[in-house]
Amino acid sequence: MPLSAASTSFSQGAPVPDDAFLRQCIHCGFCLASCPTYALTAREISSPRGRIRMMKNVAEGTTAIDEIFMHEMFFCLDCRACETACPPGVPYGALIEAARAQVENFRASQPRGRSRLKDFILGKIFTEPARLRRIAQLLRFYQKSGLEKIAMRLRLPRLFGKKMLALAPLAPRIEAKFTFDRLPERIQPHDGKIRHRVALLVGCVQDVAFAAVNEDTAMVLAENGCEVIVPRQQVCCGSLHGHTGASHHARELAKKNIAIFEALKVEAIIANAAGCGSFMKTYGHLFAAEPEWHERAAKFAATVKDLNEYLIEIGFKKPPQTLAQRVTYHDACHLAHGQKVTRQPREIIRAIAGKNYIELEEASWCCGSAGIYNLTHFETAMQLLERKMKNVLASGAKILVTANPGCAIQLQHGCRQAGAEIEVVHPATLLRRAYEANSMQ
Ligand code: SF4
Ligand code: SF4
Repeated sequence: MPLSAASTSFSQGAPVPDDAFLRQCIHCGFCLASCPTYALTAREISSPRGRIRMMKNVAEGTTAIDEIFMHEMFFCLDCRACETACPPGVPYGALIEAARAQVENFRASQPRGRSRLKDFILGKIFTEPARLRRIAQLLRFYQKSGLEKIAMRLRLPRLFGKKMLALAPLAPRIEAKFTFDRLPERIQPHDGKIRHRVALLVGCVQDVAFAAVNEDTAMVLAENGCEVIVPRQQVCCGSLHGHTGASHHARELAKKNIAIFEALKVEAIIANAAGCGSFMKTYGHLFAAEPEWHERAAKFAATVKDLNEYLIEIGFKKPPQTLAQRVTYHDACHLAHGQKVTRQPREIIRAIAGKNYIELEEASWCCGSAGIYNLTHFETAMQLLERKMKNVLASGAKILVTANPGCAIQLQHGCRQAGAEIEVVHPATLLRRAYEANSMQ
């Protein structure tokens, strides 16, 4: 099981990097070559080893939390490539997320240290699915009514800050129908024989911008003998909060989801977004300081499966090879490094594409999306996207598969900028199409 992406240590109620995890680092430097921020800067403090050293210094009180520390904890992508490369297995994801929570707590203690906008977005929008959907509807109206085109032509986003014009194209495209308008609460297997009972996490961004992927996921599961339950009361998994240091919101959301999903008594809770799956698999560690929740959370976490992982586990129904175009695959960091799921999506794509599947160079190198990193660190994110796109274009693929909404948005942006006609799709979409093509023959 992948190691924690959440802190297991608390100081006066606030998460801090776990001392035992910090001491696991032997400073060997094996992680350096896999670190995108080290590759860009060649600075030790922007490497995993350097950041761990800084966390240790702060923990031991030899340095205070200062601007450099705060900058580095958020300049890190939390891509966790260093975790995959690390011989003694330092759980870097757990460390960085605890360090971010530590930074946020420190900021909150300073006069005007807190970002009100971030607090509002994380605490008032992403914790309330109904409010998020209403805002998404407004955004869709803006995108579809022609207002967006006019605003972009007049360069109006600049009024909200210099960077807004560049950031505007990274806004997710909102779908006309969200998940609950596409799927009933209970979906029966297509052949009528229930072999598995699973529940589907619909997500937050996934629900409003990739609802079609949720629908594809449910249809693929139903084709594989699953009864799929889509609980209406579920909330965001909290990964966005946990990854950005707002661990108190993450715990609130996790508690709601645990109560809702455990009552369903399903064999698996399916996540089709890498960041969500990765985070929910660490719910147990999130409640290390709350014994009354810890066991329930750990049980919940053990039930979470990434869609690709689950399909391979149950021996998914192989469609005939129907894909005539060249296809490649980009590993989402939180699927490859966070969940160690790399073989399964490739197996599914190969089953559909056969020889048309081509392995992408540096497939598991971060694309720069990294949650909200492309919004908070736009220039660095674009440098990473440029590197990724060079490899994508060199592959000659016409279809680029990835299993995370953030990566999909970033890669779609990269393809548009490169003027490349490459479709970015989720594995569930590809598989559903293959099943449907087969049934039409
Ligand atoms: S590879 Fe692991 S042990 Fe070695 S320096 Fe990096 S984090 Fe530390
Ligand atoms: S999480 Fe990614 S960016 Fe951060 S230190 Fe590890 S490899 Fe580097």
